[in-house]
Amino acid sequence: MELTLTDFVLFVVFGSCFLVLILTAVSRTLHARSEARSLADRFICRLCLHAYEDHSHGKITRCPQCGAANERDRNRRFC
Ligand SMILES: [Zn+2]
Repeated sequence: MELTLTDFVLFVVFGSCFLVLILTAVSRTLHARSEARSLADRFICRLCLHAYEDHSHGKITRCPQCGAANERDRNRRFC
């Protein structure tokens, strides 16, 4: 079987489209994962409503504004 110019061009065009679709899916997955990770570290204080980030892995975080203890799981319900 001989490869004609038309076949080669079609192969390149469809191959490029397929590659773009694959890269788009990978990019969206990585972006969604990093956004979910970032949201997991954001808190809103239950007392003063100050929004802050805490990167510790403890179940209780301290508000930098008022010092109140906030539960990590409690904030996830509101997000
Ligand atoms: Zn606070």
